[in-house]
Amino acid sequence: FKPSPFFDAGIKPVPDSLALLHLRRDQLEPLTLHSSAEHADGYAEGAVKNTRFGSFPHSTLLESQWGRQVRASKVDTGSRGRKKRKLDEAVSEASDSQALKTAEQAGTGFVHLLPPTPETWTISLPHRTQVVYNPDYSYVLQRLQVRPGQTILEAGGGSGSFTHAAARAVFNGYPTQTQPRFGKVCTFEYHEPRAENLKKELEEHGLDSIVRVTHRDVYEDGFLIHQPDAPQQSPDANAVFLDLPAPWMALRNLTRHRLSSETARIVADSSSAAGQASPDAEKDTSDSTQPSANTEEQDTSRPFVSPLDPNSPIHLCTFSPCIEQVIATVAAMRRLGWTEIDMVEVMHKRIDVRRERVGLHEEGLRGVNATAATVDEAVGRLREVEGKFKEWHQVSKAKSQAVQNGTAEDAHLPHDNFSSKQARLDRIKKELGARKIFSEGRLVHRTEPDIKTHTSYLVFAVLPADWSEEQEQACRAKWPVHG
Ligand code: SAM
Repeated sequence: FKPSPFFDAGIKPVPDSLALLHLRRDQLEPLTLHSSAEHADGYAEGAVKNTRFGSFPHSTLLESQWGRQVRASKVDTGSRGRKKRKLDEAVSEASDSQALKTAEQAGTGFVHLLPPTPETWTISLPHRTQVVYNPDYSYVLQRLQVRPGQTILEAGGGSGSFTHAAARAVFNGYPTQTQPRFGKVCTFEYHEPRAENLKKELEEHGLDSIVRVTHRDVYEDGFLIHQPDAPQQSPDANAVFLDLPAPWMALRNLTRHRLSSETARIVADSSSAAGQASPDAEKDTSDSTQPSANTEEQDTSRPFVSPLDPNSPIHLCTFSPCIEQVIATVAAMRRLGWTEIDMVEVMHKRIDVRRERVGLHEEGLRGVNATAATVDEAVGRLREVEGKFKEWHQVSKAKSQAVQNGTAEDAHLPHDNFSSKQARLDRIKKELGARKIFSEGRLVHRTEPDIKTHTSYLVFAVLPADWSEEQEQACRAKWPVHG
């Protein structure tokens, strides 16, 4: 198996693997680094990545260690290279030509080279759908109690954001020839191009031996593994994550036993019983009145196979943007024997904490009290204020001298109200006395409004393992009850 850089990226990138260019905060660009000439596009240096912070030959990036800052290079652009560069710059998302110009003129453009992780991939991945972001998936995976070696079912796969995080959570080494597996993450997606794209991406990321992508409508066809010329097999899942418009429709296929047609019908009707849960019309085409693959109405000559691990409790989470969907899902969960049902909304807020200077709002000193980026800058501005203070002092002295000599008119000194000026000067003096506070700044914090996240309700539930009479007897035999 090709090792995945998501699990072990080494200390630097290897040719033909994924890297992330960190352009600035929350802005990352995925890039496959090539050493071969075939991606050179007319550049003498081989393949080159053009960004608005300058040009970066892949060869330079391949030599750099993860986490390092890489400075932009002057590249030898032949005519094809120039064309490509223009094109790259044009398509560079949110292109900022001023930043590019400044970076180029100063020769100081740089990026940081980061290894791929589910977090960096989530920020930079090509969006095919809404995605689950890190604040939600880190919480979900923790609540699902997924551990290395377990199996998780996911539907729908969408853009693969959750899939990458799930793959890392269950990764327990690569499967061997003698230990064939279906993949520790089984993800289902009914939109064929999305399923194909996800499959391709996972192959490129070396995750295809851990994740199995199936193009399927899970409402109708459930979660079993179909192998050519073999009976359907159970993935023996320990945990389930459903990011679907109508999770209750998938729940009827996540049972330990075949459902009676009556229960299947009631569960399928959960949406109407709950009011008007309206699954996103674009995504959900299934007809809730259809029986699923998991009912008595199906061919009962085939043995029932549950997709769930018979020996462990199953932890489940559904992700739904509206409360009507939650109500329908919870109604179905109750009917199907799920316990510990619990809804959570993750309200992630990023707090911006910084020091702000105490302002000197005197006329003539405006602009001086803009927030200082560094202590040096703050001290520089303080000196500027002090200079102005001295200047005012000299003017005041000259003015009072001129008044005494009766030559104020000739001296062309400022005619404004002397006493109010004096009062202002006194205030400035007082503020300058607070010099320490001024240079360090006052600590302030604000909520950042622009955090990328897609808020949804998370419904958690647990399906207990079956407990048979044989298990009870075995237990009693092992731990006899005395007395
Ligand atoms: N969790 C994904 C991520 O983090 O990238 C995003 C999932 S997206 C919001 C929902 C996906 O569910 C869509 O891609 C849609 O095609 C898929 N879907 C909807 N109904 C489905 C069904 N019945 N079976 C399988 N997939 C389905």
